[in-house]
Amino acid sequence: MQSFIVMQGQTYQEEKELGMIWSRKQASDGSFPHSWLRVMEVNEGNRIFHYVKGSIVAISVAKTGCQIAQRPSSEPNDDSGYLVELDYHELEVPVNVRAKFDAILPLLPIKYSPFQADANGNQGYLYPCNEELTIKLLEMISDLNIYQVDEEQLELAISTVRQTERNTFIPMLAETETEVKTKIRLGRKKFRQGLLPVWAKKCALCEIELPELLHASYSKPWKDSTDVERVDAYNGVLLCCNHNALYENGFIAFDGQGRLHISSQVPEEDYEKYGIQPKMKIARKEQNKPYFKWHKRHLFRG
Ligand SMILES: [Zn+2]
Repeated sequence: MQSFIVMQGQTYQEEKELGMIWSRKQASDGSFPHSWLRVMEVNEGNRIFHYVKGSIVAISVAKTGCQIAQRPSSEPNDDSGYLVELDYHELEVPVNVRAKFDAILPLLPIKYSPFQADANGNQGYLYPCNEELTIKLLEMISDLNIYQVDEEQLELAISTVRQTERNTFIPMLAETETEVKTKIRLGRKKFRQGLLPVWAKKCALCEIELPELLHASYSKPWKDSTDVERVDAYNGVLLCCNHNALYENGFIAFDGQGRLHISSQVPEEDYEKYGIQPKMKIARKEQNKPYFKWHKRHLFRG
């Protein structure tokens, strides 16, 4: 199951009433924006977060895959586009993205992010939402929208409509969370199992062998990787807790030859404490090269 974020603005109300999202196929300048073409990637059962003027205001489930269709509300013409039918669940309390941005920012991918670094939404229409970001958004939605209904509220008879809506909304959130967490857990497990023998079950830098202390560190993180890259045993390196933290936070990196590079933010006098030396070289495989280069280019603090 995939998730997406749709940036709707003024089109939200109409698209909600019609129970769909829709994009044109081609821009008036002849280009094919990636965020429009992405509507074709939506499959039945996928989840979509709806972003309107700074907040996530609804979550929906795709009732269909993508269809070629003109906008239902438009006058008949030949300007068809991409349409997906959705079950909208509008949130009683929207999630204000800017207010929660400290938790959201680290989960945004470098490519095709729905939000800019200043918390504003990007201009396009439909963006991918990786599993880690999906879980974070679900947590935020749950915190704001799920509460224990106490006796008094029940006596005041909350409207039947709202009750019915909640009867499907809460299980849908729970099911989404379970599916997404399972995907991450199984993916990481497969990644670790593939990676252990590549590094002879030892930290590549200090040779610690205790399995409980060893992390399968991603070079290209989950949020930025394709499904294939997420389980590719060469997209990472086996490291102990300390070296994993240095690597994931960009304080160290490896070049194509497997040579260690240390950020200038780590004082030289501390190298010994961290168990690192600038000349260290790890036994990288040829297939590690593109991933090491990606990590060094995008995550290394230099
Ligand atoms: Zn180590």
